[in-house]
Order: sequence, then C-alpha cells, then structure tokens
Amino acid sequence: MTPLESARRLVVKIGSSILVDETRGEIRRDWLETLSDDVARLHKGGCEVVLVSSGAIRLGRTHFKLAPGPLKLEESQAAAATGQIQLAHAYQEALARHGITVAQVLLTLDDSEERRRYLNARQTMATLLAMKAVPVINENDTVATDEIRFGDNDRLSARVAEMISADTLVLLSDIDGLYTGDPRIDGSARFIPEIREITPAIEAMGGSAASELSNGGMATKLIAGRIAMAAGCRMAIADGRAVGALAALIDGKARCSWFLPEASPLSARKKWIKGSLKTAGALLVDDGAVRALSAGKSLLPAGVTAIEGEFKRGDVVDVKDRAGRVLARGLVAYAADDARRIAGRKSAEIEHLLGFRGRDEMVHRDDLVVE
Ligand code: GLU
Repeated sequence: MTPLESARRLVVKIGSSILVDETRGEIRRDWLETLSDDVARLHKGGCEVVLVSSGAIRLGRTHFKLAPGPLKLEESQAAAATGQIQLAHAYQEALARHGITVAQVLLTLDDSEERRRYLNARQTMATLLAMKAVPVINENDTVATDEIRFGDNDRLSARVAEMISADTLVLLSDIDGLYTGDPRIDGSARFIPEIREITPAIEAMGGSAASELSNGGMATKLIAGRIAMAAGCRMAIADGRAVGALAALIDGKARCSWFLPEASPLSARKKWIKGSLKTAGALLVDDGAVRALSAGKSLLPAGVTAIEGEFKRGDVVDVKDRAGRVLARGLVAYAADDARRIAGRKSAEIEHLLGFRGRDEMVHRDDLVVE
C-alpha cells in the first residue's frame, strides 16, 4: 500500500498557483474536477479528507480587476471576501457530483493557538468528519490583520493536521519536493526523498524562494513539516500542478518528499499531555473508575467523587484515586465549576445539570495518559 492508500485521516493543502490559472486568474475546472474524483475515491475507501485551499485572494483580485503587483492589506482582505465565496462554491459543486457534502471552515491564527478556540475548532471538525463531510478550510483573510495572520496555508494546514490528529498531510505545490538547492536555477541540486529530522542542514535547503502566486515558498513548508512531525503526522511536499496529480500520488506513480515522524498522532498527543509541566487541578475518582482507567476506558463524570483546584476546559489535570495517588493525567472536557456540578452523575444528566449538552466523558481516553 502507498502512504496515501493507508491514510485514515488526510489533510491536502492546495496552493493558489495550482488551483488558479495564472493567465486568466480563474479556477482550473478540469484540475478541480479530477481532484474531486480522487478525493471521492479516498473517501469511499474510508479515509477522512480535509482540504486546505488557497485562492480566495487571487480569485477576488480577478473579480475586482486589481492591477498586478503587491496588494495592500485591505485590498487583499476585500479580495478574499468575495474570492472565498467563489472558492467554496467551486468545491461544493465539484464534490456534489460524488454526493459529498462540503463544509467551509475559516480559521485565524488565534483559533490554532488560544486553547478554548482550538478545542472548539477541533470539536467542530471532528463532528463534520463524523458526518462524512469534507471540510474546506482557508484562513479567515478578511478579518485577519498582519500581526495575527498565518499569511500562508502551509503552516495553517500543518496546524489543522495537528488539531485533528491527522496521520497524513500533503502539500500540493508547484515543486515535487525538497532539493539541496533551487532546481530551477541550480542544475546540481539533489532531490531529497525522505526527511526524518529537520536539521540545520535541511533548513538551509529551504532558502526563502517563493513562486509568484504563493506566499509560502520552501521555508514555510519546512516549518509546516516541523509542526506536522511533532504531532506525529507524516507530510509530503508534492507537485500538484498536473491534472490527476493526487491520483498519481495515491498510486505511488509520482515522486515527492516525505517528512516522517517517529511517533503516531495519538502517541505524540499523549507524550505532550504527559510532558506538560503543570497541572491545573485534579479529579478524584472512585474504585470503579480506577478499574475503567486501567482497562483503557474514558473517565465518565459518574466515577468522579471530587474536584480540586480551578481549571478551564481543555486544561491538563491529574486523576487521583481515593488515597490521593496520581493515576493518570488528561485533558479535561469541563471547566472546574461545571465538573463539580456533574461529578458523580450520569452522562445523560449533563444537559439538565449544565443547560448544555457537553461531552459524555469527563476525560476522553484519547486525551488520557495512565501513569
Ligand atoms: N489564504 C490565502 C488565499 O486564500 C492564501 C494563502 C497562501 O497562499 O498560502 O488567497
């Protein structure tokens, strides 16, 4: 099986320069239709697919007939506001042919960094995937100002991969991978098929060259590689320009550079939980819960007898037994006040007790590391 055939949760980043025809400034419909065929094929095989697509600003630029050259921030924002509608509509139409629902998600840097917003975005994305939709993501360019912008979808897509614990990220770009130099100007530049660690030597290969249409260039792809690898997600840089480029990758017929992490997404996440230096509080649990935890199950509110400390949803907390021994550590799904209200109660009562329907688990097993 090729890496893409074995992917279970895949993020594909589509750069402006491959989606939008350079001279006309319009979407390459034939390319997008073929991409949709390939996405549908993966989807049918049980792989969850998330697309991170650029192109909003480029399409808006065509629509407003803006002169060539760099745009002012407010011009890019205005262009993105109309271009994003065209972009989302094109994906919706292309995937509808396969009966696949497209869901638009616009993110800002804050959504990937601020804890509560991160958790919200993660939950929404998980729900969309459970509903078999294909999220089409872009940066929320219209509201993101210079200081709070990713500015490139390479890093955004790696953050998304991290957020949803994807196992594979593919950056469809206008180059087929990483080289020791820029192959367009340096004939002796060597192709690097596999990267297991981003060393200073690898970083130096990144340079800062960017093609005219994309904001990224190789430097941001390497940063994306670093984020993805730390999250246990393998990442490919591949040439996406040709019609059928994704199919060629799925079938292993096109070469690309693979960034290969040591850990799986789940173990990377657990390592992160285990390594967090400070816990914000603790959940005391009864003997039934102790048994459930050692059997690899989630911690339900019913097994929690008391709450120590003040914490927010998503904070790392200790889980202690009756003797006060720390048994596990995990990301708690409720803030301390809410946790106090539902402790010892059945999950079915949560909505009645809190006035909203939160998660059934106090700490989900994927968010839990037993000592
Ligand atoms: N978010 C930008 C857009 O849709 C593109 C960013 C990038 O080129 O990576 O136009």
